Amino acid sequence: MMAQYLALKEEAGDCLLFYRMGDFFELFFDDAKTASAVLDIALTARGEHGGAPIPMCGVPAHAATGYLQRLIKAGHRVAIADQTESPEAARKARGSKALVNRAIIRVVTAGTLTEEALLDARTANWCVAVGEAAGEIALAAADISTGRFEVIACTAQGLGAELARLAAAEVIAAEGSDAPATVWRPRGDFESAAGEARLKRLFGVATLDGFGQFGRAMLAAAGGLVAYLDHTAKGALPFLRPPRLSSANAAMAIDAATRDSLELTQTTGGARKGSLLDAVDRTVTGAGARLLAADIGAPLMDRAGVDARLDLVQLFHDDGALRERLRAALRALPDIGRALGRLAAGRGSPRDLGQLRDGLDGAWLLGETLGAVEAPPRLLAELAPQLRGHGALIDLLKRALVPAPPIDAADGGYIAAGYDAALDDLRDAGAGGRRAIAALEAKYRAETGIAALKIRHNGVLGYHIEVPAKAADALMRPESGFTHRQTLAGVVRFNAPELHEVAARVTQAGAHALAAEAAHLEELTGAALARREEIAATADALARLDVAAGNAERAAEGGWARPHLTDDARFEVAGGRHPVVEAAVARAGERFVANDCTLSENSRLWLVTGPNMGGKSTFLRQNALIAVLAQAGCYVPANKATLGLVDRLFSRVGASDNLARGRSTFMVEMVETAAILAQATQRSFVILDEVGRGTSTYDGLAIAWAVVEAIHEDNRCRCLFATHYHELTRLAERCDALTLHNVRAREWKGELVLLHEVADGPADRSYGLAVARLAGMPPATVARAKAVLAKLEAGRQKTGGLAAGLDDLPLFAATLPAEEERGDAVRREVEALDVDALTPREALDTLYRLKALA
Ligand code: ADP
Repeated sequence: MMAQYLALKEEAGDCLLFYRMGDFFELFFDDAKTASAVLDIALTARGEHGGAPIPMCGVPAHAATGYLQRLIKAGHRVAIADQTESPEAARKARGSKALVNRAIIRVVTAGTLTEEALLDARTANWCVAVGEAAGEIALAAADISTGRFEVIACTAQGLGAELARLAAAEVIAAEGSDAPATVWRPRGDFESAAGEARLKRLFGVATLDGFGQFGRAMLAAAGGLVAYLDHTAKGALPFLRPPRLSSANAAMAIDAATRDSLELTQTTGGARKGSLLDAVDRTVTGAGARLLAADIGAPLMDRAGVDARLDLVQLFHDDGALRERLRAALRALPDIGRALGRLAAGRGSPRDLGQLRDGLDGAWLLGETLGAVEAPPRLLAELAPQLRGHGALIDLLKRALVPAPPIDAADGGYIAAGYDAALDDLRDAGAGGRRAIAALEAKYRAETGIAALKIRHNGVLGYHIEVPAKAADALMRPESGFTHRQTLAGVVRFNAPELHEVAARVTQAGAHALAAEAAHLEELTGAALARREEIAATADALARLDVAAGNAERAAEGGWARPHLTDDARFEVAGGRHPVVEAAVARAGERFVANDCTLSENSRLWLVTGPNMGGKSTFLRQNALIAVLAQAGCYVPANKATLGLVDRLFSRVGASDNLARGRSTFMVEMVETAAILAQATQRSFVILDEVGRGTSTYDGLAIAWAVVEAIHEDNRCRCLFATHYHELTRLAERCDALTLHNVRAREWKGELVLLHEVADGPADRSYGLAVARLAGMPPATVARAKAVLAKLEAGRQKTGGLAAGLDDLPLFAATLPAEEERGDAVRREVEALDVDALTPREALDTLYRLKALA
């Protein structure tokens, strides 16, 4: 057995090995130590290996799911080694001491789950592979719980953003690749030629052209993914729908740092609650919630696509009664996408078939309702027909299944009476037998005069007669006709020929009935899977309707508006709100102040100043979120919004807000800001919140100043920049598309009142001390700070202050010499630099000089 175990463990590699022994899965050696710690179960020992006792722990096979869930959550992967023959078969074939054959039948990993209990109903579960070929990069992503399969052309630069969007449960890459993977697989799995062959085989096609144009990296990624799924399912490949090809730039580009900072689908702490998604989501089905998360994670770049979604939302927004009917119907529907996923993976149950029946039936009714809508928008006209068309299957399942089929098929009872006459007969025979047994019990009681006599059933003895020990003597005599079977404390058990005969009939009928039901289950599953493409399309259509109706509901609830998208670089929001902060403010019993934001060609960079806690961050973010929602095809929290399509969205927050990350936060801030300067285009939208704050005052101001100039002159994107460096307002004089704004505050009777209102012009003062008082700093400390401030300000007036001299700075892009000359000049300058001897101020000046030379 040890040899068999070690061979299986070798095959399992870095997975924990669940080794089936009787009713348990056992773990040994280090696996046992790991699992017993994670699962908090007893670690024992068994036998010896190399002179030392073997650590061991085990979990009951019937309860394995829960334990698996905890191991997967803790980041482990588990290989399941089950018995592939019965102990009797092993004995028959190889003698009485024969070892039962075992094999790894499945590798359970976070990215390849289908079990309802192991998955979150409202979140997609992506398994992603990274492929590289010919200098290109691509991703292949599968959610095998629903069969979704996407192949995405990508770039090295955009890889992080795509992985962040998918929030993959597992990322696979070839050994030796430097992709940020969690699982490494052999390089051969990621060969593009092998990938092509694998896909053709999987989908039974001679050419992949029908799916779209695959690049070599796309084939490598898709091939690597399919090979991995094949590996985890041990050859029983789960259901994958035909791949949907896309390119990462078909969606608004949102990098990982921006996603994190805007808390689009989860908060910085990883929770769904408190995210934009959570504040918007009014869907009533798991599939709808998953689709909304995907929509918000990947806002569209084509206006036609956005408008198609918005038309549907508007239909349900304007017709509240229709929306209510639709939502009530959807709420009652089971998750047919995931039921189908389980059936296709060979892990389906009678209940999954029941869910398909009920889901498809409900979809049909909805299709009737929605088909009757007059002058339907384009998307509805496309979706409504996909809800119908499963008539024969629904009819079959309705006839075949009981109303509420069980999850476990082992005990039968899921095939409806009247579906199969032979099965009905078997059941009658069984029922008749059970009645006969009841009659026998009465007869034996009368004959023996023992009122406490009972006929019982258990797994070991089958049907038997049980009497109290003190009444057993009479039955022990041979002429009584009873045969003694077992004596326990208090009771004695017997058999009798007549009972034996009836019991055999009952047992046999039961076994035949079970077998008949199992055959029907397989047949029905086959019938459902034959239509899996169509069923998956129906599931998609239901999800899209749920998202649209949910968006309409949210819009009606909050007085949101339909955004209008254009192709220019406008950004006009009237009465904009931040959905998450608004809810928090409302919970505190206060009113959220709506604000306008109007960026245009001659005012594309807003510099927002004002006191801490004045609402700057909130204002910046709400506008970024409105851009996301609009392009995701949702109504937006504003009275009116006209927005030019945003190709890339960036959000950065000054380092000190992010201390919890525990990295060199200023370094992170600078790396992230550099990425914006390198990537933002004229169609991008950038919010920068207190950038430069993570370092000393001079450095910080210098960096903030340079970043604003670069964005204004080079990137020329739409940008909101919040800062507490009052000095930056001087940039308005030299940057003609930069305008000044402030969040208003007022001192009233010695108290600071934050109005949260965005007004034109610079803030008149910083209110730092007033905020300190508001925050409860002791009066004596505030008074002392006041005295210090007065001194500082007096000094500032004498020297011209922090930004003294900046006015003479040459303009950002000075007149430029010829290219080679510039290169030489820059090199000379750099070679002459003594970096360690520079003050921050000199470093800034040098940078400007270099930039001007280049
Ligand atoms: P800042 O970035 O200027 O320090 P924040 O945007 O973080 O300020 O806002 C601080 C707090 O003020 C928020 O948590 C919220 O409670 C409140 N607030 C912000 N904006 C508004 C608004 N428009 N209406 C009402 N309250 C707001």
